[in-house]
Amino acid sequence: MPMNVLVLNSGSSSQKSCLYEIGDALPDDPPACSWEGKIEWADDKAQYSIRNSHGASKKDLASAGSRGEAIERLLHSLWSGETQAISGPSDIDVVGHRVVHGGPQYFEPSFVTAKVKSAIESVSVFAPLHNRAELEGMEIVAKLLGSVPQIAVFDTGFHGTMPLSAKTYPGPYEWFEQGIRRYGFHGINHQYCAQRAAQLLAKNLNSLKLVTCHLGNGCSLAAIREGRSVDTTMGFTPLEGLMMGTRSGSVDPGILTYLMREKHFSGQQLDEVLNQKSGLLGVSGISSDMRQILAASKNGVAPAKMARAQLALDIYVHRLRSGIGAMIAVLGGVDALVFTAGVGENSPEVRAAVCDNFAFLGLKLDQEKNTVSPLEKATSPLKNDKDISASDAAVHVLVIHAEEDWMIARQCWNLVRQQSTASS
Ligand code: ADP
Repeated sequence: MPMNVLVLNSGSSSQKSCLYEIGDALPDDPPACSWEGKIEWADDKAQYSIRNSHGASKKDLASAGSRGEAIERLLHSLWSGETQAISGPSDIDVVGHRVVHGGPQYFEPSFVTAKVKSAIESVSVFAPLHNRAELEGMEIVAKLLGSVPQIAVFDTGFHGTMPLSAKTYPGPYEWFEQGIRRYGFHGINHQYCAQRAAQLLAKNLNSLKLVTCHLGNGCSLAAIREGRSVDTTMGFTPLEGLMMGTRSGSVDPGILTYLMREKHFSGQQLDEVLNQKSGLLGVSGISSDMRQILAASKNGVAPAKMARAQLALDIYVHRLRSGIGAMIAVLGGVDALVFTAGVGENSPEVRAAVCDNFAFLGLKLDQEKNTVSPLEKATSPLKNDKDISASDAAVHVLVIHAEEDWMIARQCWNLVRQQSTASS
């Protein structure tokens, strides 16, 4: 019997959801969803985009209402109306939730129980916008779908294998005991990319040293040895590490104490400046979107703006190179560098600029494979997963489509199968 796995992926201002129908074995390639829906909240409005695998699609703009009401409305379209994909809520076998923060206790995908919920609640101070939205999603699913099994998959989980030397901040040791430690994020996709890389290279994951570069609105690197994360650039929060769309990444903490002391910044102001007014947007003054930064760095804007866009791009690339160098040093070598997420998958310029400096390791791009424009690519992004390194390169460079939701669905499928084998 196929298993219908519903995945809920809650963001601070969006809610994505998709349904996978998985048979008796996991397919080699990520399958298309049989239904997917998204809500994006902005300016007191909720924008719904829903489609199913029979070609029906619907877009709708409604007043925001509560988050709970909006998710209920989204889920109803799964079994009713034009985008219907199943005959009723009871067709859903399991629901997987992406949970941003598992804290110091939860790493492995876990069935949602009162204990798991209270652990997620207890670390919600570390990721208030996310963990609370995810808990609300669990409540709504329980209300609409009754006792369907729910599974929490933690975005911090994959990095739980980092050694203490990578997990611990060199502050007072009490920090570690209080949970102030390096957790890392984007773990679901870093793990997916590692497994997919081994598949594309036809190698055993246990034999590989990989650096995965997740470059979306948020950006992070992971150093992966034998399929386990041994280091990553994000830390206690998703603010550490690389320069991002609107986030600064790592800055001297002395800047913060200076701003507090001399400029009377409050905690909230610091939070806002570092999370929303920095990164590509902060430096360029133009946009957080890499497409606009690349365009503005070439032409079409006043020289001063062009220079700022170029500087933003230069910092982004500089920090990426130095971060990747650090990850390679931690691994003591590298077999493949993986680019994933919006910028990683779609920007040949960024990939080329980053890779240029690693020629000394024998890393060399095939210029043509790197620059094939997205429009020339196959219709499904999944088919774009490819090796873009030159045939004589010593290090592979892979482009892998981010598949967070599919990874969650796979983990749910595995856990449910394990449970039913154990109980039979
Ligand atoms: P998220 O991190 O929110 O999941 P994505 O992984 O979709 O986001 O990445 C979004 C970012 O990808 C955009 O902000 C944009 O900067 C970048 N991006 C998308 N397409 C391109 C492109 N063709 N060239 C460069 N950057 C791109």
